Amino acid sequence: MKTGKYAYHCGEIVPIEQAQVPITNHALNYGTGCFEGIRAYWSEDERQLFVFRLPEHYERLAASAHILMMQLPFPLAEMCELTTELLRRNEHSTDTYLRPLMYKSARIIGVRLHDLEEQFSLFTAPFGQYIETEGAARLRTSSWRRVEDTSIPARAKITGSYVNAAFSKSEAMLDGYDEALVLTEDGHVAEGSAENLFAVIGGKLVTPPVSDNILAGITRSTLIQLASEVLGVPTVERSLDRTELYVAQEVFLCGTGAEVVPVGEIDRRRVGTGQEGELTRELRETYSRVVRGRDPRYSDWLTPVYSSEHPAPEAEESLALSATPA
Ligand code: PMP
Repeated sequence: MKTGKYAYHCGEIVPIEQAQVPITNHALNYGTGCFEGIRAYWSEDERQLFVFRLPEHYERLAASAHILMMQLPFPLAEMCELTTELLRRNEHSTDTYLRPLMYKSARIIGVRLHDLEEQFSLFTAPFGQYIETEGAARLRTSSWRRVEDTSIPARAKITGSYVNAAFSKSEAMLDGYDEALVLTEDGHVAEGSAENLFAVIGGKLVTPPVSDNILAGITRSTLIQLASEVLGVPTVERSLDRTELYVAQEVFLCGTGAEVVPVGEIDRRRVGTGQEGELTRELRETYSRVVRGRDPRYSDWLTPVYSSEHPAPEAEESLALSATPA
């Protein structure tokens, strides 16, 4: 994976080769960390890099950290400043992925959450397309269930819980599908392995509630708002049965990495026309305009990285990450 030259690690911006953790690291041994996936979009017209909903991502990281008995090192505004500073140091002038990590850095044997040193790190990487499908994605229901709030809370983006996502994703991919459909322990639809899910039923959007073991996605809440305000389409948050998806008019996945991905097939049943549905297309295009700064109504969601004081560098080669980020 090609990354930016610098990372934030142990309290300072350092060359990325120096941003290492020892094999005794608690989070490496026990999965006791949490993270975010954030996107920044390059606008060639404005020669500007816009970070999408940066404070919201740090708010969610703070919540995940709180659940794991940790605290972000700085107040929200400073976390955001540190992030834009690193993007400038890395001179990104292409679409970029940001990965903040908050984790137990203690070097001890012994599994627990309390009384352990903690650390914050951040790296950035040029980032192109994500779920690699041509046309609509093909899903299979995972034989694995989504972790319950009573085992590992899905609302926290906990590094260790991504083993659960990895089981589902690999099963789906090795069986020739693009993505997994993951159910809750009681058999309701939760989400994809690293994306939230929406269905179009009776002309409305339907999506599982945050109490059905989903990550409360920032793209999910963005789309609920855009569907209502721009397209006049309401969203119902309710539990969904798997077979409701088989007969839905449209289904799509969404996430920071995935953006909006139409689903054309689930468990070998065609969904809708098997191609991207009309509402999915309208939402995908609306979302794309908003994140790239082409809709002034939502410019508050964008944090610009460059300024006249710190102008953008010359163009950078665009590269995709080698694997699908969560
Ligand atoms: N669910 C899971 C399990 C995820 O990992 C992600 C990606 N962060 C999402 C949903 C989508 O969340 P967001 O829109 O905030 O990226």
